[in-house]
Amino acid sequence: MTQVFNFSAGPAVLPKEVLQQAASEMLDWHGSGMSVMEMSHRGPEFISIYKQAEADLRELLAVPANYRILFMQGGGLGQNAIIPLNLLGRVRQPATVDFIHTGSWSGKSIKEAARYAQVNVAASSEAAGFTTVPPPDTWKLSADAAYLHVCTNETIDGVEYNFVPQAPAGVPVVADMSSHILSRVIDVSQYGVIFAGAQKNIGPAGLTLVIVREDLLDYALPTCPSAFHWKNVAEHDSMFNTPPTYAIYIAGLVFAHLKAQGGVAAMEARNIEKARLLYAALDADDFYSNRVDVSCRSRMNIPFYLRDESLNEQFLAGAKARGLLQLKGHKSVGGMRASIYNAMPVEGVQALVDYLNEFAGR
Ligand SMILES: *Cc1c(COP(=O)(O)O)cnc(C)c1O
Repeated sequence: MTQVFNFSAGPAVLPKEVLQQAASEMLDWHGSGMSVMEMSHRGPEFISIYKQAEADLRELLAVPANYRILFMQGGGLGQNAIIPLNLLGRVRQPATVDFIHTGSWSGKSIKEAARYAQVNVAASSEAAGFTTVPPPDTWKLSADAAYLHVCTNETIDGVEYNFVPQAPAGVPVVADMSSHILSRVIDVSQYGVIFAGAQKNIGPAGLTLVIVREDLLDYALPTCPSAFHWKNVAEHDSMFNTPPTYAIYIAGLVFAHLKAQGGVAAMEARNIEKARLLYAALDADDFYSNRVDVSCRSRMNIPFYLRDESLNEQFLAGAKARGLLQLKGHKSVGGMRASIYNAMPVEGVQALVDYLNEFAGR
């Protein structure tokens, strides 16, 4: 097999060692004679897989004891509805939800929440083409919001928070960390709810991670579906209904792999270096451009444009010939995008940088 580097935004690259281990255990997990896919989610084998995955994630993110980790389904977009259904009961109706609009994903979250609540867009960078995070002193937050929703890494626009968003006293902050969870050290205690689809920086699609502070578990509206009711999910250790067992198993292998690599702080150091390398190549002259404010540039998702966009197809074909895959930008913004998640080795970024320099004739 030829060496390739996969820059897909998601589903995305996974650590080779994890895929190799999963392959070796595919037909017979630890002498059980069964594939993980074939096991009852209530049997001792899968329960041990689940408990280890949860414990490793708790350790990696230093999740405090008063937070529950839920392994759910429905994806990031599913949570856009599940969150209001679980939190609006915290305040008098009609409830208000505050949003910071920083790009495509927070935009989708706003649209969905508006079906359930009054939405207050407390700040927006839309006029700036979603190239920045509005400074917190400009946010017009509501004192009585059910929660404040932020997307701390905009996967399509390449914008990442470089500060911890704060809400008025008592208002929980809900953060969509789908595309940068586990890429940098975070202080979980600053958030009420953290959620992430697994397919960017964790594992296979189909698993959605939710980390929720215990005191927020019981504010669901009566119409909240039982399978999406956080309290119900927490009380059943994510097994009210059948969880995505194989995806949880792979996520567990990724967590163990991250621990072996030195944990989240070690990943963050590597991610800083990878992003530095790539942005330096994009900034070297005006052949390429990244339009995001330097202080808000994402370390994970790096959109860029060729000065001469008529060369786009030639650029992508040359990249593919070198094994540099899935660099085409999201259809809504065009151009190119390199996603360099935890599992992208520095060699992959270096190979892309070499190609960027060669294509620009440097
Ligand atoms: C990918 C992504 C989502 C959507 O996830 P789905 O699993 O497709 O619903 C939501 N938010 C962010 C920031 C994402 O990157």
